[in-house]
Amino acid sequence: MAKNKDWKPETFLDWITGFFGDYMADEYLIPYNKKIWKRPLEKMAVDWVFTPGRLPFPDLEAMIKSAAGIPNIGYEEQAHFYYPKRGGIQSLYNSLFDKVISDGAEIVDNERITNIDRLSNGNFSINGKIEARNLVNTIPLPEILSLMDKQGQNGNLASKFDYNSVVIVGVALNSKTPEQIAIYIPHPNITFHRYTWMSSLIPPSDSNKSNLIAEITVPKGETIDPNRVELETMKKLADIGVIEDENDIIFTKTWVNKYGYPIYTLDHNYVRNEAMNILKENNIISVGRWGSWHYWNTDMIYRAVSDVERLEVDRRWNH
Ligand SMILES: Cc1cc2nc3c(=O)[nH]c(=O)nc-3n(C[C@H](O)[C@H](O)[C@H](O)COP(=O)(O)OP(=O)(O)OC[C@H]3O[C@@H](n4cnc5c(N)ncnc54)[C@H](O)[C@@H]3O)c2cc1C
Repeated sequence: MAKNKDWKPETFLDWITGFFGDYMADEYLIPYNKKIWKRPLEKMAVDWVFTPGRLPFPDLEAMIKSAAGIPNIGYEEQAHFYYPKRGGIQSLYNSLFDKVISDGAEIVDNERITNIDRLSNGNFSINGKIEARNLVNTIPLPEILSLMDKQGQNGNLASKFDYNSVVIVGVALNSKTPEQIAIYIPHPNITFHRYTWMSSLIPPSDSNKSNLIAEITVPKGETIDPNRVELETMKKLADIGVIEDENDIIFTKTWVNKYGYPIYTLDHNYVRNEAMNILKENNIISVGRWGSWHYWNTDMIYRAVSDVERLEVDRRWNH
């Protein structure tokens, strides 16, 4: 269907079947996406994966090679990328942190934002403690809508943002890191959608040791029992041979990210635009994965933040 240039899928499910065909849809993409999103795929929007004329078609030759086990590059940016030699992705934040501190910025940490007011001089008052001329938000849109909500008019809009939380089970092992990074698992009877050998990204000083994380999504508002999730995950990791021997386990650590994956509901553009308009009317710039409610990774966040910075410089320059 995708070969017809006028074809326009209506939903995420249409796109999966129309673009990749029934076999890949049934064997991999439908079960995998049902597992990570935990929503009917026909109730999810398509515009975050499909822009008419913009996405490359899957390359048939590359697909056949890959199916036959012949290595091929796939997406260049996923095959070759830079990663910090030491300290993981945190080292990028750390180096930026050092720079802003040396530029004289003052950081206030461990402060949960519970209130934002506009003062008569147009400035913002944050938690009644900090006064600011400009406000750039990166906390989740429904959170900022709610905490700015003096008359209770934003509650309905805030409740329309849908997301999955994610439980992350970390395991340290007394075994070598295999030649793998992230493994995506479509099978419905295995609860995690992906496990990642973090030790392949940040090699431990002792190469006989390794560590991984497994991710399990939970729809917004559902009760989470991290201990039960951890037990189930450890059992499945053993069942599929990732943990070969129980005695290899050095320790486990499980935590929950309340905001894990934003859901592209059918009305996501409307909901986001409404929220952004409210913030804009209040002179607040909002950016980031949750501050703009996009399924973005770190690279996109950096790009969006530097765009905001550029816009802000332009704005000041022109006034
Ligand atoms: C499970 C998982 C796996 C991921 N894997 C990858 C990956 O492999 N590669 C990759 O590039 N990206 C990955 N990402 C994405 C990456 O983590 C995000 O894109 C990035 O962290 C988004 O940055 P941000 O600053 O927009 O939001 P965040 O990093 O979420 O920052 C928002 C901050 O706001 C804080 N906050 C919320 N409410 C309040 C409040 N009321 N007051 C004060 N602070 C508040 C939160 O505590 C948080 O620290 C992953 C994300 C998740 C959840």
